[in-house]
Amino acid sequence: MHGWNSDVERLADDVLAYTKMRLQLDPLPLDNTRSLAELQREAGETITAGGLGGAEALRIFTEVLAPACITASHPRFLAFIPCAPTEASMLFDLVVGASSMSGSNWLEAAGAVYAENQALRWIADLAGFPPGAGGTFVQGGTNANLSALVTARHAVRERLGEAPGGSRRWAIAVSPDVHSSLGEAAEVMDIDLVVVEVGDDRRLRGDALARRLDAVDSRGEQRVFAVVASAGTTNLGVIDDLRSVGTVAAERGIWFHVDGAYGAAALAAPSVRSQFMGIELADSFIVDPHKWFFAPFDCASLVYRQPELAKATHTQHASYLEPLESAKDWNPSDYAIHLTRRARGLPFWFSLATYGTDAYSRAIERTLEVARYTAKAVHDREYLRLVREPDLTVVCFTRTGWSREHYDRWSQKLRDDGIAFVTPTTHLGEVMARVAIVNPRTSESDIDTVLDSLA
Ligand SMILES: *Cc1c(COP(=O)(O)O)cnc(C)c1O
Repeated sequence: MHGWNSDVERLADDVLAYTKMRLQLDPLPLDNTRSLAELQREAGETITAGGLGGAEALRIFTEVLAPACITASHPRFLAFIPCAPTEASMLFDLVVGASSMSGSNWLEAAGAVYAENQALRWIADLAGFPPGAGGTFVQGGTNANLSALVTARHAVRERLGEAPGGSRRWAIAVSPDVHSSLGEAAEVMDIDLVVVEVGDDRRLRGDALARRLDAVDSRGEQRVFAVVASAGTTNLGVIDDLRSVGTVAAERGIWFHVDGAYGAAALAAPSVRSQFMGIELADSFIVDPHKWFFAPFDCASLVYRQPELAKATHTQHASYLEPLESAKDWNPSDYAIHLTRRARGLPFWFSLATYGTDAYSRAIERTLEVARYTAKAVHDREYLRLVREPDLTVVCFTRTGWSREHYDRWSQKLRDDGIAFVTPTTHLGEVMARVAIVNPRTSESDIDTVLDSLA
């Protein structure tokens, strides 16, 4: 099954023809989820001793499996955080797949790492990080947050000269609205979450953090080694007060991590850049190019102020890896929890290199414009109430008189009718509709379609 022949030639034509067709579809199909029974009936058993042949496997994918996957780049995919890759980034994903490169280290993939690092440098510059900053691309924000916190604990432990264990529990300080991945990180690391109170605006602030740290210290049961601020919470899109949080973190000698998985892409948007003041104080931050930087799944970036601290934490040591360690080159595997890795920053790099950073700023500004329109359009409809003015492009609102069941039925009907993918959420016990706009193709009329459907 290895080797190029006329069958493969035909398959290549078919795969590339499908790819081109798919990229050009306009309008894009929203598609919908299917039940296991339906897929079993229509796709059947696909793994056989003799193989189906490429043509048949591709037919099953294009006719049965692909339509059972919701299109995240559909302009009315507004649930969770969508994905809106550029044409160049999706095409280059094919090239990465065809190139058989392990993006783990400089020795094996110098060219790929060079390009990825230029893309990372652009991100670091957006945040005002120093020339020595650096990091890597990982699979998602979940892994990026976890990798950063493992580095943070290692660095603080080294500085304090404290052995692992001890009588106090290690802990991180977070706001109540922090992303669920921090709960998972705490579970994996066996550490505690210390939740800091926020006010009605839901922003984590330095004074509240300081008070909470004092209270924790006086009880003497936990050691808070890091604080995580959100640069755009997932549920409401709130940007914490990064400057005051960073200042308190520096005073207390704790690590300052900024989770910008969704929102920090807006560092490239002049109209909202000032809301991120203080991000330059961070020890580490993350932003997911597969969210608002128009790269395909899956791609998260992780940047450290002092990458040598991450290297001291994450470098794997083994006799068979010694050829890598002795060279003083940049090995992406040294900066997060991974070893073998797809050079998953390359589709993002190719797109940035192709279109230029100004195009990124314009595309992000366009989504902010549509989010501002959404807030106004909610105001203008007497049956809707805006939950809060959006900081970025997450807009939440309630429909008067609706219960959870109404929202669920509405959401399912929009999906089943192929109109939109919008899911409800809750905030402080209240059920509400939520849209997240990261797709420059999402227009004011798409928003009107969704808002009118709640009438
Ligand atoms: C999406 C998100 C994450 C998790 O990122 P994944 O890529 O889904 O793992 C973490 N934090 C925030 C704020 C997010 O929006």
